[in-house]
Amino acid sequence: MDISTICIHGSVNRKDPTGSVTVPIYQSATFAHPGVGISTGYDYSRVQNPTREQLEKVIAELEGGVDAMAFSTGMAAITAMMELFRIGDHIIALNDLYGGSVRLFRTISEKNGLTFTFTDMADLASVEALIKPETKAIFIETPSNPMMQVTDIAALANIAHSHNLLLIVDNTFLTPYYQNPITLGADIIIHSGTKYLSGHNDTLAGFLIARTEELADRLRAIYKTIGACLSPFDSWLMIRGIKTLAVRMDRQQANAIALAKWLSKHPKVKKVYYTGMPEHPDYAISVKQSRGFGAMISFEVDSEETAVNLLERMKLVLYAESLGGVETLITYPMLQTHADVPIEERETLGINEKLLRLSVGLENVDDLIEDFKQALK
Ligand SMILES: *Cc1c(COP(=O)(O)O)cnc(C)c1O
Repeated sequence: MDISTICIHGSVNRKDPTGSVTVPIYQSATFAHPGVGISTGYDYSRVQNPTREQLEKVIAELEGGVDAMAFSTGMAAITAMMELFRIGDHIIALNDLYGGSVRLFRTISEKNGLTFTFTDMADLASVEALIKPETKAIFIETPSNPMMQVTDIAALANIAHSHNLLLIVDNTFLTPYYQNPITLGADIIIHSGTKYLSGHNDTLAGFLIARTEELADRLRAIYKTIGACLSPFDSWLMIRGIKTLAVRMDRQQANAIALAKWLSKHPKVKKVYYTGMPEHPDYAISVKQSRGFGAMISFEVDSEETAVNLLERMKLVLYAESLGGVETLITYPMLQTHADVPIEERETLGINEKLLRLSVGLENVDDLIEDFKQALK
């Protein structure tokens, strides 16, 4: 079955006794037992809720995992996942991650006794050289945030598994519509459902998807114990958002390709980072492992003044954090998503006062270009 159909129905068309076409919102904290020692399959909504369960089934199917867990936010999902590790464990992480993940590792996980090595993943031999006896996992995002570096997931999975490490991939940017890390060998997939999966800048959510039953069992135990689960209403909003994932991604990517081309010709734009441009250094890896490039673009303008003017003059495009929704948003990574990343690290990566990040939405692309034209004047 095609992924666009699974987005709408799941692979098994759910039959509701009332004929309801949409999944009802089971706004119940608890479920009555029909008899002693008998359960309807639902006991208490922290453990499982019928609305959330339908969402989790669809996500697990879309990602090719054995189980998916829906959390209140992406950060809640990552924080829960870190409970797989214990004092002394070492994790190798990409040096260009979502700023919130870096803050979690630095301020909470390290305090709890974990250690991290942040590194570039372009040269996989150098990543392998960082593996120590206490190393337990490799954590990446691909494409990365905000520099759009692409990591070869299958090659990295081979290295991880030959050393008994977990490969964890944050797949927020491409979504299961364009990329399936588990199929490429990853063990755990993370999503900020707040972004493309929800798609409307109106809901916070997060997901963990497990490749094996063994990992799913361990994560489920953490899930019900920590309790950062997604509410029935937000689960329903997520189900609704995912129904249009395929058409949204197609259109957002088409807009992004057009906008990336236009930006790269503008005299005040010095550099465009978009994985869908054949001149992107990782274009070949993208084509090999993904079905598309997504709609995230970073670009560097000629001066800090141009960047600030642009942010203040945009009319249609909103200056706001987050990404993946129908509205085109522009962010200033240095001040927003990456404000907590140490300055030397930011500078080395190229996250400076001239770098802007764009999440291309569903507006008419000519209207978007018009807005950039006037703002860059
Ligand atoms: C937004 C984001 C997160 C965090 O998700 P929240 O839903 O905001 O908690 C994690 N990873 C990536 C790549 C993100 O873009």
